[in-house]
Amino acid sequence: MNTERPACDLHTHSTASDGTLSPSELVKNAHQHGVQILALTDHDTTKGLAEAEATAVGNGMEFVPSIELSVTWCRKVLHIVGLNIDPEAKSLQKGISRLQVTRERRAEEMGRLLALHGIIGAYEGARDFAGDGTITRTHFARLLVERGYCRSVREVFKHYLIKGKPGHTTVSWARLEEAIEWIHEAGGVAVLAHPMRYHVTDTWLHGAVTAFKAAGGTGIEVVCGNSNPKDIGTSAEFARRYQLMGSAGSDYHGPENASIQFGALAEFPYGIEPIWQVWRR
Ligand code: AMP
Ligand code: MN
Ligand code: MN
Ligand code: MN
Repeated sequence: MNTERPACDLHTHSTASDGTLSPSELVKNAHQHGVQILALTDHDTTKGLAEAEATAVGNGMEFVPSIELSVTWCRKVLHIVGLNIDPEAKSLQKGISRLQVTRERRAEEMGRLLALHGIIGAYEGARDFAGDGTITRTHFARLLVERGYCRSVREVFKHYLIKGKPGHTTVSWARLEEAIEWIHEAGGVAVLAHPMRYHVTDTWLHGAVTAFKAAGGTGIEVVCGNSNPKDIGTSAEFARRYQLMGSAGSDYHGPENASIQFGALAEFPYGIEPIWQVWRR
């Protein structure tokens, strides 16, 4: 076991996207649970970073300004985390404003599709839930739970929001190469998020990791919230085979999800180079 690993969490969400805690509440919660190095990685936005950073610094934590970018690769969605970015970087800001337009249009289309299915006003309701944060499918899911269509967010995804279900529509997110370029131009490093959560074949995943590495990707999440020893082992194999550094992040979205809380990440596997060494050297 690598006992020198600082308590870090490099994948979290606030109300700037689909988390339920404000950036400062999230940082305080992480601090109370012993997190020393924290990255805020909201979906396609840097809006929460300044507030989070101020709170982190006030609590003596190391804050890593970051983002989770939505990417379309071979007609499927990949999530690429950009760690240690300059939030002001021009090409990144230009790129994410395009993704925000895509998100807004997709949300309107989801509203239209759900209306055909008898669910009226879903876009407006989800828009309200999102406030001035990035609108996501999670906001639709929360609305449908509130309206009693399902008992949990997970159930809404299963019955309404995934491919083949009434509220699903496919859009084109960023290309893998451009997303990694935006991260690099912002001085950051690119990490392939939650590799075991894409519901794809081995062949497809190896193809995606090959393309990610070829485009300049640096790391892969080896330890995620909820990840079991088998998933950690498989992710570590990917890291070794493709010479990627390892990252660790819970994908925290708020206190409501009892199974993903701060300070509960599994040990980092031995022999994998931790990605936080890139900017701590
Ligand atoms: P979006 O980027 O708007 O398509 O929304 C993706 C987000 O939805 C992810 O970041 C998760 O937070 C959430 N999500 C995706 N699939 C599920 C699921 N099966 N159950 C619960 N939440 C999910
Ligand atoms: Mn999310
Ligand atoms: Mn993700
Ligand atoms: Mn995430």
